[in-house]
Amino acid sequence: MSGEEVTLSEEESHHIVKVLRLPVGSEIELLDGRGGVYRAELLSLGRRVAARIVAPVATAGGAGRQLTVYQAILKGEKMDTVVQKCTELGVSRLVPVRSRRCQGGRDDERDARRLERWRRIGVAACKQCLRPVLMDIAMPLAVADLASHCQAQRRLLFWEEERALHLRGLADWGETASAALFFGPEGGLAGEEVELLRQGGWVTVSLGERILRAETATLGAVAIVQYLLENL
Ligand code: SAM
Repeated sequence: MSGEEVTLSEEESHHIVKVLRLPVGSEIELLDGRGGVYRAELLSLGRRVAARIVAPVATAGGAGRQLTVYQAILKGEKMDTVVQKCTELGVSRLVPVRSRRCQGGRDDERDARRLERWRRIGVAACKQCLRPVLMDIAMPLAVADLASHCQAQRRLLFWEEERALHLRGLADWGETASAALFFGPEGGLAGEEVELLRQGGWVTVSLGERILRAETATLGAVAIVQYLLENL
């Protein structure tokens, strides 16, 4: 790997040449998104920058215990914020979900465009927080597909109408090998969606009496659970 020459994407090249304005010979850090971080030296500039790997950089350990977030697709920038903050908080995988009260029905073309945008936001967030492994962002799923889709040991459905079990009431996080958290859209989940998920092994859990905005619930709960999983 050291000594190997690499060619950067047009987007990364533009950032180096036009935004950072780095000269040939400068040293940069490259992330391969699969856990590898490398020091590299700029060999040539232009539409596609060339660099030579100098040496690997030690990174902060592995991904830790896996946390998957299933997020009912939120409107506009709120979903961008969830992608960015879940990346920073070390979420392993983000699965966008189309639920009954999400804006707009199934539209594969629009989903593909949005997925491309979310993945770009995820890469930028990875670079900013020096996260060596990209957060995986899956193609959007329907709620009905979720029951069979999730393999996590602990599956928590955050539901504002839950009165019996609070997140605080859950113990044994030390033995939790993997967890999945589900959050509804701005308009909440329909009753039959909650029932379907419960039948699929999801446990409804409360974050307290206040009704939180969708993005607040997600980011607050993810931060707490990542702390409990010792990923934060
Ligand atoms: N039914 C809500 C209302 O009347 O405004 C709309 C849903 S809330 C804005 C968006 C999502 O945040 C919910 O689907 C749920 O996943 C989560 N959420 C909000 N407050 C919560 C709470 N106190 N406990 C658990 N989840 C909550």
